[in-house]
Amino acid sequence: MTDKNNNNEDIVLYEVTDQVAVITMNRPEYNNAQNSAMTYALDAAFRKAVDDDDVKVIMLAGNGKHFSAGHDIGTPGRDVDQTFDRAHLWYDHTNKPGGEFLYAREQEVYLGMCRRWRDIPKPTIAMVQGACVAGGLMLAWVCDMIIATEDSFYSDPVVRMGIPGVEYFAHVHELNPRIAKEFLFLGERMPAERAYQMGMLNKIVPREFLKEESMAVAKRIAKMPRLGLQLTKQVINNAEDLMGKRSTMDMAFGLHHFAHTHNEMVSGDRLAGFDGKAMAESQKQQQKEKAEAGA
Ligand code: ZN
Repeated sequence: MTDKNNNNEDIVLYEVTDQVAVITMNRPEYNNAQNSAMTYALDAAFRKAVDDDDVKVIMLAGNGKHFSAGHDIGTPGRDVDQTFDRAHLWYDHTNKPGGEFLYAREQEVYLGMCRRWRDIPKPTIAMVQGACVAGGLMLAWVCDMIIATEDSFYSDPVVRMGIPGVEYFAHVHELNPRIAKEFLFLGERMPAERAYQMGMLNKIVPREFLKEESMAVAKRIAKMPRLGLQLTKQVINNAEDLMGKRSTMDMAFGLHHFAHTHNEMVSGDRLAGFDGKAMAESQKQQQKEKAEAGA
Protein backbone atom coordinates (compact mmCIF):
# COMPACT_ATOMS: atom_id res chain seq x y z
CA MET A 1 0.00 0.00 0.00
CA THR A 2 2.61 2.43 -1.12
CA ASP A 3 2.14 5.71 -2.92
CA LYS A 4 5.01 6.58 -5.17
CA ASN A 5 3.87 10.19 -5.03
CA ASN A 6 3.94 10.18 -1.26
CA ASN A 7 7.66 9.72 -0.60
CA ASN A 8 7.17 5.96 -0.51
CA GLU A 9 5.45 6.11 2.82
CA ASP A 10 2.43 3.91 3.34
CA ILE A 11 -0.55 5.79 2.05
CA VAL A 12 -2.89 3.59 4.07
CA LEU A 13 -1.93 1.99 7.40
CA TYR A 14 -3.36 -1.26 8.69
CA GLU A 15 -3.28 -2.78 12.15
CA VAL A 16 -5.34 -5.30 14.07
CA THR A 17 -5.83 -5.18 17.84
CA ASP A 18 -8.28 -7.34 19.79
CA GLN A 19 -10.37 -8.35 16.73
CA VAL A 20 -10.59 -4.75 15.55
CA ALA A 21 -8.86 -3.71 12.31
CA VAL A 22 -7.91 -0.04 12.13
CA ILE A 23 -7.43 1.27 8.59
CA THR A 24 -5.84 4.71 8.54
CA MET A 25 -5.55 7.13 5.63
CA ASN A 26 -2.03 8.46 5.74
CA ARG A 27 -1.55 11.61 3.70
CA PRO A 28 -1.64 14.05 6.63
CA GLU A 29 0.40 16.63 4.71
CA TYR A 30 -2.51 16.90 2.27
CA ASN A 31 -5.27 16.49 4.88
CA ASN A 32 -5.83 12.98 3.55
CA ALA A 33 -6.99 14.16 0.14
CA GLN A 34 -7.98 10.98 -1.66
CA ASN A 35 -6.15 10.15 -4.86
CA SER A 36 -6.65 6.86 -6.68
CA ALA A 37 -3.56 5.39 -5.06
CA MET A 38 -5.24 5.90 -1.69
CA THR A 39 -8.62 4.64 -2.87
CA TYR A 40 -7.16 1.39 -4.18
CA ALA A 41 -5.05 1.00 -1.03
CA LEU A 42 -8.20 1.46 1.06
CA ASP A 43 -9.98 -1.16 -1.02
CA ALA A 44 -7.10 -3.59 -0.48
CA ALA A 45 -7.13 -2.90 3.26
CA PHE A 46 -10.89 -3.46 3.50
CA ARG A 47 -10.51 -6.73 1.62
CA LYS A 48 -7.76 -7.83 4.01
CA ALA A 49 -10.00 -7.07 6.98
CA VAL A 50 -12.95 -8.92 5.41
CA ASP A 51 -10.77 -11.96 4.63
CA ASP A 52 -9.35 -12.18 8.15
CA ASP A 53 -11.70 -14.28 10.30
CA ASP A 54 -10.11 -12.81 13.42
CA VAL A 55 -11.34 -9.34 12.49
CA LYS A 56 -14.86 -8.66 13.76
CA VAL A 57 -15.04 -4.86 13.42
CA ILE A 58 -13.33 -2.45 11.02
CA MET A 59 -12.47 1.15 11.89
CA LEU A 60 -11.59 3.84 9.36
CA ALA A 61 -9.44 6.74 10.47
CA GLY A 62 -7.48 9.66 9.02
CA ASN A 63 -3.98 10.45 10.26
CA GLY A 64 -3.29 14.04 11.30
CA LYS A 65 -5.35 17.12 11.93
CA HIS A 66 -8.21 16.23 9.59
CA PHE A 67 -10.14 13.09 8.68
CA SER A 68 -10.28 13.98 4.98
CA ALA A 69 -10.44 17.16 2.95
CA GLY A 70 -12.06 15.24 0.08
CA HIS A 71 -10.97 13.98 -3.29
CA ASP A 72 -7.55 15.00 -4.50
CA ILE A 73 -8.17 17.90 -6.85
CA GLY A 74 -4.80 19.55 -6.63
CA THR A 75 -1.94 17.89 -4.69
CA PRO A 76 1.27 16.80 -6.42
CA GLY A 77 0.05 13.19 -6.04
CA ARG A 78 -3.11 13.76 -8.08
CA ASP A 79 -3.42 10.72 -10.33
CA VAL A 80 -6.71 11.09 -12.23
CA ASP A 81 -4.90 10.24 -15.49
CA GLN A 82 -3.35 7.04 -14.21
CA THR A 83 -4.43 3.47 -14.78
CA PHE A 84 -4.91 1.09 -11.84
CA ASP A 85 -5.98 -2.56 -11.60
CA ARG A 86 -9.68 -2.05 -11.30
CA ALA A 87 -11.88 -3.55 -8.60
CA HIS A 88 -15.00 -3.80 -10.79
CA LEU A 89 -15.62 -4.77 -14.39
CA TRP A 90 -15.27 -1.23 -15.61
CA TYR A 91 -12.93 -0.58 -18.51
CA ASP A 92 -9.98 1.75 -18.17
CA HIS A 93 -10.96 5.43 -18.32
CA THR A 94 -7.61 6.97 -19.19
CA ASN A 95 -7.90 6.71 -22.99
CA LYS A 96 -11.61 7.57 -23.20
CA PRO A 97 -12.91 10.79 -24.79
CA GLY A 98 -15.26 13.50 -23.51
CA GLY A 99 -17.59 12.74 -20.64
CA GLU A 100 -16.75 9.04 -20.78
CA PHE A 101 -13.36 9.67 -19.16
CA LEU A 102 -14.73 10.83 -15.82
CA TYR A 103 -17.91 8.74 -16.02
CA ALA A 104 -15.96 5.48 -16.25
CA ARG A 105 -13.48 6.61 -13.60
CA GLU A 106 -16.07 7.70 -11.07
CA GLN A 107 -18.24 4.61 -11.61
CA GLU A 108 -15.22 2.63 -10.47
CA VAL A 109 -13.37 4.69 -7.87
CA TYR A 110 -16.17 6.73 -6.32
CA LEU A 111 -19.66 5.25 -6.67
CA GLY A 112 -18.51 1.66 -7.16
CA MET A 113 -15.97 1.58 -4.34
CA CYS A 114 -18.20 3.43 -1.89
CA ARG A 115 -21.13 1.08 -2.46
CA ARG A 116 -18.83 -1.88 -2.12
CA TRP A 117 -17.43 -0.59 1.17
CA ARG A 118 -20.86 0.28 2.49
CA ASP A 119 -21.88 -3.36 2.06
CA ILE A 120 -18.78 -4.86 3.69
CA PRO A 121 -20.12 -7.85 5.67
CA LYS A 122 -18.64 -6.65 8.97
CA PRO A 123 -19.50 -3.61 11.09
CA THR A 124 -17.48 -0.51 10.23
CA ILE A 125 -16.88 2.61 12.32
CA ALA A 126 -15.51 5.92 11.04
CA MET A 127 -13.41 7.94 13.50
CA VAL A 128 -13.66 11.53 12.37
CA GLN A 129 -11.67 14.58 13.49
CA GLY A 130 -11.36 18.04 11.95
CA ALA A 131 -12.48 18.38 8.34
CA CYS A 132 -14.79 15.85 6.78
CA VAL A 133 -15.44 17.60 3.52
CA ALA A 134 -16.93 16.51 0.16
CA GLY A 135 -15.21 13.20 -0.72
CA GLY A 136 -14.43 12.91 3.01
CA LEU A 137 -18.15 12.68 3.70
CA MET A 138 -18.40 9.71 1.36
CA LEU A 139 -15.88 7.76 3.42
CA ALA A 140 -17.56 8.55 6.72
CA TRP A 141 -21.02 7.84 5.30
CA VAL A 142 -20.17 4.37 4.01
CA CYS A 143 -19.36 3.32 7.56
CA ASP A 144 -22.08 1.88 9.81
CA MET A 145 -21.31 4.18 12.70
CA ILE A 146 -19.52 7.51 12.97
CA ILE A 147 -17.73 8.61 16.13
CA ALA A 148 -16.36 12.12 15.88
CA THR A 149 -14.54 14.81 17.78
CA GLU A 150 -16.20 17.95 19.10
CA ASP A 151 -14.14 20.02 16.65
CA SER A 152 -15.07 18.01 13.57
CA PHE A 153 -17.05 19.69 10.80
CA TYR A 154 -18.85 18.61 7.67
CA SER A 155 -19.50 20.25 4.33
CA ASP A 156 -20.18 19.53 0.69
CA PRO A 157 -19.15 22.64 -1.21
CA VAL A 158 -19.20 21.13 -4.71
CA VAL A 159 -22.44 22.92 -5.65
CA ARG A 160 -20.04 25.83 -6.11
CA MET A 161 -18.71 23.93 -9.16
CA GLY A 162 -22.27 23.68 -10.47
CA ILE A 163 -22.37 20.01 -9.44
CA PRO A 164 -25.24 18.62 -7.32
CA GLY A 165 -23.15 17.22 -4.47
CA VAL A 166 -20.52 14.50 -4.20
CA GLU A 167 -20.77 11.25 -6.17
CA TYR A 168 -22.07 9.12 -3.28
CA PHE A 169 -25.23 11.16 -2.79
CA ALA A 170 -26.47 10.12 0.66
CA HIS A 171 -27.22 13.66 1.91
CA VAL A 172 -30.98 13.17 2.07
CA HIS A 173 -30.64 9.95 4.02
CA GLU A 174 -27.90 11.18 6.33
CA LEU A 175 -29.74 14.39 7.21
CA ASN A 176 -33.31 14.98 6.04
CA PRO A 177 -34.50 16.63 2.84
CA ARG A 178 -34.82 20.17 4.22
CA ILE A 179 -31.52 20.13 6.09
CA ALA A 180 -29.85 18.47 3.07
CA LYS A 181 -30.99 21.43 0.96
CA GLU A 182 -29.57 23.88 3.50
CA PHE A 183 -26.34 21.87 3.64
CA LEU A 184 -25.94 21.88 -0.16
CA PHE A 185 -27.42 25.29 -1.07
CA LEU A 186 -25.14 27.08 1.39
CA GLY A 187 -22.17 24.71 1.24
CA GLU A 188 -21.29 25.85 4.75
CA ARG A 189 -19.60 23.94 7.52
CA MET A 190 -21.95 21.94 9.69
CA PRO A 191 -20.49 21.67 13.21
CA ALA A 192 -20.30 18.28 14.95
CA GLU A 193 -23.05 19.19 17.40
CA ARG A 194 -25.60 19.83 14.61
CA ALA A 195 -24.54 16.71 12.71
CA TYR A 196 -25.05 14.77 15.94
CA GLN A 197 -28.50 16.29 16.46
CA MET A 198 -29.41 15.27 12.91
CA GLY A 199 -28.45 11.68 13.67
CA MET A 200 -25.50 11.72 11.29
CA LEU A 201 -23.04 11.00 14.12
CA ASN A 202 -23.37 8.33 16.81
CA LYS A 203 -21.17 10.01 19.38
CA ILE A 204 -19.10 13.15 19.90
CA VAL A 205 -16.00 13.04 22.08
CA PRO A 206 -13.08 15.33 22.90
CA ARG A 207 -10.30 14.84 20.36
CA GLU A 208 -7.89 13.22 22.82
CA PHE A 209 -10.38 10.42 23.52
CA LEU A 210 -11.40 9.66 19.91
CA LYS A 211 -9.40 6.49 19.49
CA GLU A 212 -10.02 5.20 23.00
CA GLU A 213 -13.79 5.74 22.84
CA SER A 214 -14.10 4.32 19.33
CA MET A 215 -12.04 1.29 20.29
CA ALA A 216 -14.24 0.69 23.34
CA VAL A 217 -17.37 0.69 21.17
CA ALA A 218 -15.71 -1.54 18.55
CA LYS A 219 -14.67 -4.06 21.22
CA ARG A 220 -18.20 -4.24 22.59
CA ILE A 221 -19.54 -4.91 19.08
CA ALA A 222 -16.81 -7.51 18.55
CA LYS A 223 -18.34 -9.63 21.34
CA MET A 224 -21.44 -10.21 19.19
CA PRO A 225 -21.61 -13.17 16.78
CA ARG A 226 -20.23 -12.43 13.32
CA LEU A 227 -23.20 -13.76 11.37
CA GLY A 228 -25.70 -11.94 13.56
CA LEU A 229 -23.89 -8.67 12.93
CA GLN A 230 -23.69 -9.27 9.20
CA LEU A 231 -27.36 -10.24 8.83
CA THR A 232 -28.43 -7.19 10.84
CA LYS A 233 -26.32 -4.94 8.65
CA GLN A 234 -27.84 -6.43 5.50
CA VAL A 235 -31.37 -5.86 6.76
CA ILE A 236 -30.72 -2.22 7.66
CA ASN A 237 -28.85 -1.46 4.43
CA ASN A 238 -31.74 -3.01 2.52
CA ALA A 239 -34.19 -0.86 4.48
CA GLU A 240 -32.21 2.24 3.49
CA ASP A 241 -32.37 1.20 -0.15
CA LEU A 242 -36.12 0.66 0.14
CA MET A 243 -36.27 4.23 1.48
CA GLY A 244 -34.79 5.30 -1.83
CA LYS A 245 -31.10 5.61 -1.01
CA ARG A 246 -29.84 3.61 -3.96
CA SER A 247 -32.16 5.06 -6.60
CA THR A 248 -31.61 8.62 -5.32
CA MET A 249 -27.89 8.05 -5.68
CA ASP A 250 -28.29 6.65 -9.21
CA MET A 251 -30.21 9.73 -10.30
CA ALA A 252 -27.78 12.11 -8.60
CA PHE A 253 -24.83 10.34 -10.23
CA GLY A 254 -26.34 10.87 -13.69
CA LEU A 255 -26.89 14.57 -13.04
CA HIS A 256 -23.44 14.83 -11.45
CA HIS A 257 -21.95 13.67 -14.74
CA PHE A 258 -24.18 15.89 -16.81
CA ALA A 259 -22.71 18.75 -14.72
CA HIS A 260 -19.09 17.59 -15.18
CA THR A 261 -19.65 17.44 -18.94
CA HIS A 262 -21.49 20.76 -19.00
CA ASN A 263 -18.60 22.37 -17.12
CA GLU A 264 -16.15 20.99 -19.62
CA MET A 265 -18.18 22.25 -22.57
CA VAL A 266 -18.62 25.71 -21.10
CA SER A 267 -15.31 26.32 -19.35
CA GLY A 268 -13.03 23.57 -20.66
CA ASP A 269 -12.68 22.24 -17.10
CA ARG A 270 -14.74 19.45 -15.51
CA LEU A 271 -14.48 21.11 -12.10
CA ALA A 272 -15.42 24.56 -13.42
CA GLY A 273 -11.97 25.92 -12.70
CA PHE A 274 -11.84 24.94 -9.03
CA ASP A 275 -8.86 23.15 -7.59
CA GLY A 276 -8.25 22.29 -3.93
CA LYS A 277 -6.77 25.70 -3.21
CA ALA A 278 -9.58 27.67 -4.87
CA MET A 279 -12.14 25.56 -3.04
CA ALA A 280 -10.46 26.13 0.35
CA GLU A 281 -10.16 29.84 -0.43
CA SER A 282 -13.85 30.22 -1.25
CA GLN A 283 -14.77 28.33 1.93
CA LYS A 284 -12.56 30.62 3.97
CA GLN A 285 -14.10 33.69 2.37
CA GLN A 286 -17.57 32.36 3.12
CA GLN A 287 -16.70 31.74 6.81
CA LYS A 288 -15.36 35.28 7.00
CA GLU A 289 -18.46 36.85 5.46
CA LYS A 290 -20.64 34.82 7.75
CA ALA A 291 -18.69 35.94 10.82
CA GLU A 292 -18.83 39.59 9.72
CA ALA A 293 -22.58 39.36 9.21
CA GLY A 294 -22.79 37.96 12.75
CA ALA A 295 -24.80 35.02 11.46
ZN1 ZN B 1 -17.32 13.78 -9.96
